[in-house]
Amino acid sequence: MVYFVGAGPGAEDLITVRGQRLIRQADVIIYAGSLVNPRLLEEAGERCEIYDSAYMTLEEVIAVIVQAEERGLSTVRLHTGDPSLYGAIREQMDALDERGIFYEVCPGVSSFCGAAAALKLEYTLPEVSQSVIITRAEGRTPVPGRESLRSLAAHQSTMILFLSAGLAEKVREELLAGGCEPDTPVAVVYKATWPEERTLRTTLDALPRELSRAGISKTALIVVGNVLNKSGARSRLYAPNFTTGYRRARDPEEKDPEGKEPEGRGPEERQ
Ligand code: SAH
Repeated sequence: MVYFVGAGPGAEDLITVRGQRLIRQADVIIYAGSLVNPRLLEEAGERCEIYDSAYMTLEEVIAVIVQAEERGLSTVRLHTGDPSLYGAIREQMDALDERGIFYEVCPGVSSFCGAAAALKLEYTLPEVSQSVIITRAEGRTPVPGRESLRSLAAHQSTMILFLSAGLAEKVREELLAGGCEPDTPVAVVYKATWPEERTLRTTLDALPRELSRAGISKTALIVVGNVLNKSGARSRLYAPNFTTGYRRARDPEEKDPEGKEPEGRGPEERQ
């Protein structure tokens, strides 16, 4: 059996309980050594075979998994953050599908969640932004043209850029070309949740200069958007005069703070 496991953003106690149990039970672990905290491996059993995929090709990873399967062993493929984001798991799952090897995925805390915690930030503020765009600047991996930073900038949504700290000049140019103001607030979180975590707050215009001054070019996320400096309107969900599926309004006759009638019924629709 093969488990793709999210290791979390860095801190060793930010892996899920399930992920930790799978590590403890694993016979073979293949971990992404460039970003996964090696202290997580201390939970592995004494006889567990451990491989660092930073030194391996896809073919070599698959060969290790196939050999483990032939021996009836349990393999954990440990990816940083959550495996679904920039984890290159699709190609591995495809290779396992071709060979009829069964696998499961155990989610993890993505680094973008770790970054929000470091910044004490809510990415979705009423009337500021209700959407989060997770993307990257184009580097060696191509990005479809319709998803260029320039075109995504039009939404003025909160943006989280993975894999882009070494491309700050391009990020600045593209977002300015897409209509972002030069003073758009930007934050950078380096190694979120690791002991060496650092955060910096700047503007889009000053981003390349500030990043090079801080010496940050990798293992960082760039967060762009007005949620960084606005507190936004109050949520409807916790407004006293708002009825939800769980709580009646104190004074249902009263209009909501913006003078609109409440829409919808359940809190799911209100959030
Ligand atoms: N699956 C991972 C992302 C892997 S891509 C996740 O969910 O977080 C690798 C990129 O993730 C890095 O270039 C960096 O942009 C970001 N990253 C990973 N861990 C990080 C951390 N602790 N702090 C800041 N950025 C991180």
